[in-house]
Amino acid sequence: MSNEKLHALRDKLGEVIDINGAIALLHWDQEVYMPPKAGPGRGRQLATLSALAHRLHTAPEVGALLEALQGDTTLRKYGRLFLAEASYDHARALQLPEAFVERFAQEQSKAYEAWVRARRDSDFKVFQPHLETLIELLRQKADYHGYEETPYNALLEDYERGMTAARLKSIFDDLAPRQAALVQRIVAAKDQPDLAWLDQSWNEDTQWDFTLRVLRDMGYDFEAGRQDRSVHPFTTNFDLFDVRVTTRLNASELFSALTGSIHEGGHALYEQGFLEKDQRTVLAAAPSLGIHESQSRLWENMIGRSKPFWTYYAPLLRKAFPGQLDAISTDMIWRAVNHVAPSLIRVEADECTYNLHVILRFEIELALISGELAVADLPEAWNAKVKQYLGLEVPDDAHGCLQDIHWSHGSFGYFPTYALGNLYAAQLMEQIEVDLPGLWSDVAEADFSGLLAWLRKHVHEVGRRKSALQIVTDATGAEPSSEPFMRYLKRKYGALYGLT
Ligand code: ZN
Repeated sequence: MSNEKLHALRDKLGEVIDINGAIALLHWDQEVYMPPKAGPGRGRQLATLSALAHRLHTAPEVGALLEALQGDTTLRKYGRLFLAEASYDHARALQLPEAFVERFAQEQSKAYEAWVRARRDSDFKVFQPHLETLIELLRQKADYHGYEETPYNALLEDYERGMTAARLKSIFDDLAPRQAALVQRIVAAKDQPDLAWLDQSWNEDTQWDFTLRVLRDMGYDFEAGRQDRSVHPFTTNFDLFDVRVTTRLNASELFSALTGSIHEGGHALYEQGFLEKDQRTVLAAAPSLGIHESQSRLWENMIGRSKPFWTYYAPLLRKAFPGQLDAISTDMIWRAVNHVAPSLIRVEADECTYNLHVILRFEIELALISGELAVADLPEAWNAKVKQYLGLEVPDDAHGCLQDIHWSHGSFGYFPTYALGNLYAAQLMEQIEVDLPGLWSDVAEADFSGLLAWLRKHVHEVGRRKSALQIVTDATGAEPSSEPFMRYLKRKYGALYGLT
């Protein structure tokens, strides 16, 4: 960037990015190491830094630089891209008054505390008034941002830019019955996988070492990241060269740490793959959560649960757990890791039922935000939809509408990005199979370099230069659709369950 004003703007916004990096580090510490009594102090530190970041971001100086640059016809392509994204973020931040941002943060932490108690005691009434307040604030937030058709669209914008409720509804209306029908066929199939052998104790240190090995094989750079334990696995970054993942260990679960690490590894490879020249700018980020999730799901499900993957790793797993897997074939491991069964808990759901969990949440969110559904009636509405989509009775709210953290954070519009991630991933994967004919023989040798290079070029290095829609369209030659995902499920699970 040669332009002086552009330099000044980049420096100013770089300060906001630095503070956000520090905020992310404090959040990481909170989930990984922080002692329990440190909570209130940490809350204050985070509030102070968040207010500071918002103030720097919305400072008149930043606005003046943006305005001056808008009319600058000498800007080159890189400068124009940077300016477009910086202006978008700045405008979104300016739409929210600082007092609202503060109030929202306060209500968020109260709602979170109440949700933790409500979930523990399976008592929705404890959470209800807080959720009512958050939904009221979310409607205000939508008003501040402005929207067309439904306030939900304004909220969706924060997670999946450019997406609308109407578009999601048409995707999901098509997807839900087809996935539900496939699940019914799988559940009714005679040839069910043997899962009895999984009922053993799996040494946690051995599991841990295995996750590190696979992450290294995937191409995750441990010189620019690390893995730690946490209750809920996540990926976070403080800088291009500090991208961290976490996983959870449980001696009674052979695959949960490994699949968790591969999932987060997929997110982390994305963030380690931004261009160095974009470091400390808005361009070194994903354009949407859906496209981010496409990376984690592609690695976790399409690679990490594939037969070629287990052709390589099953012998290593047998060696890692001597005496425990001697009679267990590679096929048995592959089938167990892809076991399909409708369940109550989203985060434990398999690939075939996962989107159904998302779709029911989307429908409920939409109804709550529009006011069609009162918060008091949420448990009843939830249980009816679980019955409709998954055929299950919900025994209590802890296993029902209180299971997820998202609503306690006021995150409405987040869930749909998980399903979009599945669709984007399948569409990208179809193209990868065309572009890399040796893909599966490489995967069977744990050589992921060709795959990673493809993802770097078509997704990671793009950063925010393109929208999610544009990334998928440019990489695959077609607009995002659910067809590749349905083809993928039918092919894979047809083979796994002997469906014809
Ligand atoms: Zn994820």
